[in-house]
Order: sequence, then C-alpha cells, then structure tokens
Amino acid sequence: MVSLANWFLDTKNAFDTVCGRANDLFHPTIRLGVTGLSQAGKTVFITALVHNLLESSRLPLFTAARQGRIRRIAIDQQPDATIPRFDYETSIDALCNDRQWPQSTSNLSQLKISFYFDPQKTINKVFNRKKFTLELIDYPGEWLLDLPLLDKSFQYFSKKAIAVARTFDQVPEAADFLATIHAINVHDHIDERTVKHLTLTYLNYIRAQRASEQSTTLFAPGRFLMAGDYEGAPALTFCPLPNLNDKIKPNTLAGLMQSRFEAYKKHIVQPFFQNYIATLDRQIILIDALTAINGGGKSTTLLRENLAEILSCFKIGRKSWLNQLFNHRISRILVAATKADQIHHSSQDRLQRLTSQLIESTTNRAQLDPKSLAGLAIAAIRTTREATGKNNDVPFIIGTPMAGEELDGNYFDGNTEAAIFPGDLPDNLQEALDASRSGNLKFIRFRPPNGLREKPLPHIRLDRAIDFLIGDYLQ
Ligand code: GDP
Repeated sequence: MVSLANWFLDTKNAFDTVCGRANDLFHPTIRLGVTGLSQAGKTVFITALVHNLLESSRLPLFTAARQGRIRRIAIDQQPDATIPRFDYETSIDALCNDRQWPQSTSNLSQLKISFYFDPQKTINKVFNRKKFTLELIDYPGEWLLDLPLLDKSFQYFSKKAIAVARTFDQVPEAADFLATIHAINVHDHIDERTVKHLTLTYLNYIRAQRASEQSTTLFAPGRFLMAGDYEGAPALTFCPLPNLNDKIKPNTLAGLMQSRFEAYKKHIVQPFFQNYIATLDRQIILIDALTAINGGGKSTTLLRENLAEILSCFKIGRKSWLNQLFNHRISRILVAATKADQIHHSSQDRLQRLTSQLIESTTNRAQLDPKSLAGLAIAAIRTTREATGKNNDVPFIIGTPMAGEELDGNYFDGNTEAAIFPGDLPDNLQEALDASRSGNLKFIRFRPPNGLREKPLPHIRLDRAIDFLIGDYLQ
C-alpha cells in the first residue's frame, strides 16, 4: 500500500523532475558522483579538477577547452544548505602552499560549478544554450557497499557476516569477536552495556581486517568502515548475532540488535541511495589499482569484489533495487585507476588495459552497457618527472617519496628527491601480481611536487576524464 507520505514524496519528486527537465532544456545541470574506497584519490581528484577548470590550465584533451569555446568557469553558491560544501580552498592551499596532501574524504560533500561556453551544435545555438552547471558530489565508496543489505533480514546478514568472520578466525580480533558473541545468550533481556561491548568487538574486528586489506567489507555495514555523521549513533550500534530464530522476540538482545539493523537500513542506507545515488547523472569510480597490485592476490581480489559491488549499484536493469525505488538512470560511468604518475609513461597504457580487464571481469555481474562505461589510467596531480638510465635503457621516475616510504631497505625522509625504477607493469593482472611478489614491481607514494603555486597543476589524462564525463554537454 502507498502511504500518504510516500505518495506526497513521489508526486513532489515527479513535479521537481518535470520542472527540472524543462529548465534543463535551456540550462542543463548534471550531477557527477565522485566515489572510490578510502584513499583512492577522491579529494585530490576533485581539487585538481576544479583548479584546472578555474585556472584554464593545460587541458588539450578536453574538447571544448581545446577549441577555445569556454568563456568562463566559476564556482557557484552551494545549492543545498544541508550538504557540506567540498572544501576546495583548504585542499588547494594544502597542496600548493604546504606541499601536503589534503584531508581525505570522510563524509558526503558537494560543489557546484558553472560553465559559460560558445555552443557548436545547431540545436544548442537554436536554444541559446550557453550555460551548463556541474554539481560534484563526493562520497565514500564504502557507503555503496550497503546496497545488498537493503533487502536482507537481520538473520541473513548475521549468518553471512559470521560465516565471513569464521574464515578469519586465526586473526585475534576476529577470534575475539566470535568468542564474545558465542559466549552470550542472544535471547536474554537487553543490557545496553553488552550491546555496546559486542558492537565494539565487531568494529575492532572489521577495522583491523580493513587495515590489513582483507576481504571483509562485504557484509560489513559501510558506515562501520566510514561513519560520516553517524559515529556512535544507535543505528550504528549493532552487530551480527548467532543462534537466531525466524521470529525474534522484541525485548531480547537479538530483538534490539534486529531493530537497530532495520533502523540502519531505513534511516541511513535507504535515504542515502534515494537522495543522492538515485539523483546522479554521471559517475566516476576511482580505484588504487597499483597499491592493490603491491598488496598481492588478496588485495586485488578485494579490489575486484568491491568494484563489482560498487558497479552493481548503478545497474539500472528492470530487476535492480534502484530502478524499483527510483526511476533514474546514470548515463556514463568512468572507472579511473589513479596515481598513474607512480609509474613511467611506458607502463601507463598497460595500467589502462589492466583497468579495462578489471571492468570486463566485473561487468558480467553488473550487466552494464559497455558504451557508457570506460576505463582510464590517470593522475590528478603528477608528482614525478621522467628520465632514462645512462644507456637509455632504464625508465626512471623522479620525485620526492613520502616520509617513511621504503625501497631496498632504505627509508625516505620526505624531503629528498630520488630517481626510482618502479618496474615494468605487465598488462595482465596475474603477471603483474607475480612481478610484484618477486619484488620486480614497487610503487612508491610521493609528496606533491614543488612549485605548484607558480604553474598549472600537472596531471595525467585528467582532461580526457573530464571530456568523457561532461564533454557532450559543452557541444
Ligand atoms: P580519498 O580518501 O579518496 O579522498 O583519497 P585522497 O584524495 O585523500 O588521496 C589519498 C592519498 O593518495 C593522498 O594523500 C596521496 O598520498 C595519494 N594520491 C591521491 N591522488 C594522487 C595522485 O594523483 N598522484 C599521486 N602520486 N598520489 C595521489
């Protein structure tokens, strides 16, 4: 049955959509989601993107800029008073003034940018379409991993999550969590101290696993990994329990945990998908494939699993959750392997091919239309320059490794430049993993380069990414 509140919301959404579409005819607005797991490079990507757009920097592969048809680009007023603004100014100061990486994404934020341009297409000239607005929405990819929970019961979630924990029972935190939940009677009456203690042992376990890059993010609620505004909220104070019956009594520990699990889905997960994900027109998913390759087989399996989960959120087929809930379609998705400046340009095309292979191996499951899905290797900020060895045989990259980075037993201090041979990246994932295992591939983290204040921010293929994501709106 349709409730009055839902009916009102649907009608209002439909009205907003009709008004929005009419307005879009003359002045289109698109919402671009920027996501990826923690440390994938979202903050740096948005900062570099906005800076390059505002400063009209070198963007030869961004067609409208190359053709000289962009008159002006400006940051607009924040469109939504309830969403934090992406802190572009602080991020750019950290990069350019302090030579530090900015604070990473830990919550949802937004930035609105307007483009004023000379149209090229007849239809745009006829309608005098000279302005286009881009809303950038930055959010943690961890939150997307909650989609599969939406139609699951607490019993199902518990069974799956405990089965995953058992596969890690040699890890102290996992063993502690399993021992703790098996030592209690879940059908006992509620004791808030027990609830908190159980949740804490669960959190300790999934955060320890996450830090060691093991595959537990599946069936671990996304906000447990990245809480956003909800740290410590009751809807985040629950954990999977063993020995559950089909019907759970309300005044028991199991009953309380079940009601919080349902509250988590209803008040946190569903609104996030409804209010943000379902309103996106375009999406970029950033992946740190090089770190995953260096991390070995488990890390790359995790990367593939997470990418498949994330991509499946945008599967707008007839049976998808999103399609049933909200009638909206994302028309373009770009999966970008970040930090391509950590390898020599002779390996960058191979990183791109590896990215395409990753997408192909996951899209079978996600059933996306390949024409609207692309893979790219990019560096939002290029931290290295290139050189070859004396005999022109070894392709080096030169940059300032971050303090604490290690190579062949030497530790870097964060101030000294070094010429590094990261190895030749094979274009096959298995070979890349083998090369990494045998020490022939080693990717180092670098500091932002010197002198960013004086010159355009250097990048690799950032312009191609922009062109794929929004180029068609500037024709
Ligand atoms: P987020 O968690 O997705 O917001 O990730 P960030 O954008 O904060 O990036 C995490 C870290 O990755 C940064 O602190 C840098 O160390 C590194 N990083 C991000 N982008 C680049 C890039 O373009 N080149 C290089 N070399 N490192 C990058």
